[in-house]
Order: sequence, then structure tokens, then C-alpha cells
Amino acid sequence: MEPFRIKSVEPIPFPTRDQRQATLAHAGYNLFRVPARQVTIDLLTDSGTSAMSAAQWSALMSGDESYAGAESFERFESVVRDLTGYDEVLPVHQGRAAERILLGAVLRPGDVSISNTHFDTTRASVEAAGAHAVDLPVDHATPVPFGGDMDLNALATRLRGADGPDARCVVLTITNNAGGGQPVGMTNVEAVRRLCDEHDVLLLLDASRFAENAYLITQRDPDYAHHSPRDIARVVFSMADGCWASLKKDGIGNIGGLIALRDPDLARRCRELLVATEGFPTYGGLAGRDLDVLAQGLIEVTDPRYLRYRAEAAHWFGSQLAQAGLPILRPTGCHAVYVDAAALLPQLEAHELPATSLANEIYLAGAIRVTDLGTLVFGRADPDTGHEEPAPRELVRFALPRRVYTKSHLEYVVQHAGGVAARAQRLPGYRISEQSPTLRHFTAVLKPWG
Ligand SMILES: *Cc1c(COP(=O)(O)O)cnc(C)c1O
Repeated sequence: MEPFRIKSVEPIPFPTRDQRQATLAHAGYNLFRVPARQVTIDLLTDSGTSAMSAAQWSALMSGDESYAGAESFERFESVVRDLTGYDEVLPVHQGRAAERILLGAVLRPGDVSISNTHFDTTRASVEAAGAHAVDLPVDHATPVPFGGDMDLNALATRLRGADGPDARCVVLTITNNAGGGQPVGMTNVEAVRRLCDEHDVLLLLDASRFAENAYLITQRDPDYAHHSPRDIARVVFSMADGCWASLKKDGIGNIGGLIALRDPDLARRCRELLVATEGFPTYGGLAGRDLDVLAQGLIEVTDPRYLRYRAEAAHWFGSQLAQAGLPILRPTGCHAVYVDAAALLPQLEAHELPATSLANEIYLAGAIRVTDLGTLVFGRADPDTGHEEPAPRELVRFALPRRVYTKSHLEYVVQHAGGVAARAQRLPGYRISEQSPTLRHFTAVLKPWG
């Protein structure tokens, strides 16, 4: 059960069917463009949507808003140092600012960044630096405990090959969000570290869900069953050269991010970029009170009871969705349940955007907002021919905001999603009528086929 009780509540909207239909059409059939006041249960993302604890709300009041060297920064820095073991700590306003700054300092045009999977904003920062992003996820036909792992053979081949010297950094995204929210195992981190040492390549963590990754290691690797998630997280950090994180996830904050590094010289170069675009290096675009909230969040998030609740909620929700007829990815992780839209809607080809179709229908059914992680997000339109390069998978993500929705909210979702699954063969395809060249899913305008 939830290891907390509720102290403050917020009413939720209940738009009618007509309102839902009008809203979706007006939003260009893109759920990112739907106003939150037309959403009953919002499972769009677990990013920045957490409920803060009483301790976080009270930490907010002790925020020191001094421009330089605020005490809030000292508290934040000390919590991050204790957790990661990295001395150089730079706050930023959110994860992608960290990516732009750190990857901008590390990568030169023509360089290569190799990852288990670059998150969409990570890939955008790699490409903005003129570098290439290469994803080498494990590819198993059957589920494995550490489905977020990097493919070690592929990494070794790449590093030893002709293009090997272009590899500037290896990025382990923990957990691997794009690949289904699966954890990266300890042995994988160790092996990646060895390969990075062999080839003198920087190993960085995208640690946005470091606590969930650590908890899943305690659950899935018998060697670590008796360790605390915090200790596991520390060991993982100890194997990398540095990290960045969106603190809108496992920071349990509504805004925030960080860069933490060992190398003072790299940190100095990051600070130069930070001060030009984000703010003074002791606040990085955040208010002092945000830093206090995040410091407290980074302590709470490794509580084993909280993490167990989170993993069990995702597991329960996933099995309910499966019983209701939705093909889910297993095993479930912590932050979301992923549904395979291609398996549910075999009548739609990738360019007809099956993941978009499923997500939109779930909104129409119950004003429930989930995320499309299919061709709209990970596919590409060839700039010359307009031909759609499909995404490897057509997934729909039911993200779980931290400490926000109760079991009866999730039961409501299961009921409506099950209704949609029952008429899956009649769902329409979609096509893109307007799009931007990067991160097109945030703003694209779509039309139903036919
Ligand atoms: C959210 C996220 C980011 C980007 O962070 P923002 O705070 O949204 O800018 C980067 N990587 C991963 C794995 C994420 O989940």
C-alpha cells in the first residue's frame, strides 16, 4: 500500500465525451497540445509531476535566495556529493539543460556518443553538438531481468572498429526509459566501465531514475538482494566519470536538474557555459528553495519502502492492464507501464502511427492522457523524399507520477483502456500534417486517415 497518507488534495476535471472529442480535434490529435484542464487522469509523464512530501514543503521555506553562494546550494551540494561521490556539483533548471551543457563541453563535430539508448532530449543535444548518437541496447527475444543493458558485444565491436577513435563518451541511461523503463544491471555497468577504460572513453550516467534502477537491482540480482538501494546507487555512481540527471524524476521535484563530475577541468568548462545561459553556478536557473526541495527529495527517494510501493504499484497496474487485454512489456519497471500498440493494432502500419492511435483513443474514452512512444516520437521523415523511417517499436507509455494517484484512479484507467482494447481493430490510423525537424512530437499537428 501507499507508504504515506494524504494531507492536501486537488480536484480533478471530468470533461464530457463531446468536450473530449472537441479538445482532441482542436489539439491537432496530439495529446501534448491538450490542456490539462481537459484531463481526468494524467499519465503523460512522471516528469515534474510528483507530489511533494511535508518535509519538502517545509524545506521550501528555508530556501536561501542569495544570488551567489546561497546556503541552499551548500545543502544541495552536500546531498549530491554524499550520494554520487562526485565533488563537482552544478545545478541546472532541468535535465536537458544539463545535457546541452555537459555534452556541449564533451563532444566536438564528428564525435560519437554511444548509449544503451539516448533519451530523445539527449539525442537532440548530441546532434546539436554536431556529433552522432549511436544506440546499442540489448535485444532479447524474451524478457530478461536487465532489459536496459547495453549490448556489450556491439559496444566492443564499435570501440575496436575503424570508427572507434571517434567515440568520445558512453552514456548509460538508468533506467533505460526509451527501452521500456528497464534497469541496467551491475555487471553491465562493470563491463561497460572496463571497455571505456580500455579505449580511454568517458563513461557518463543519465541518472534521472538512479533510485528506481538501484531498487530493481536489489530485486533482480541475488548478489545485491541484501543491499540498500542507496548503497547500490553509490556503487553505480562510483563506476562512472560523472552524471547528469533530470531531478523532475527521482529528485521528486517539480523542476530541477544537475550535473555532477569528478574532473574539475570538465566542470570548469561546464560552469562557463552554465553561467552564460542558465545562471550563476550556485543556482543554475533554479530558486534557492528549489535546491532545498530537491536535496530533501534526493534523500526520500532511496527509502526502500517508497521504492517498493512504486515498483509494486507498477506491477499491479501492469497485470490489471494485461488482464483487460492490453499487451504489456514485462517485466514492469517502476515509473511506467508500456503497452505494445503494434501488437494490439496489427491493422495499422508504422506510418499510420499505431501508438498515437491507441493513446488518442484512451483519451477519448476517459480523458486519460498517456504518451505515444512510437513512430511519431522516434521515427524520422526523410527531408528529401518525406518517407517515414519507422521507430523500432510502437509503444504507449502509462507513466506513473510519484505519490499522486491512488489505486482507484488506476482502476478507472484499467476499465477505460480495457474498453479500447476490446475494439482495437476499429481504431483509425493518423498522419502528420505539420511537424518541426527536432522533437516533432511536442508540437506536431495530426489528422486521422480517411
Ligand atoms: C526526462 C529525461 C531527460 C530530460 O530531462 P528534462 O528534465 O525533461 O529536461 C533526460 N534523460 C532521461 C532519461 C529522462 O527521463
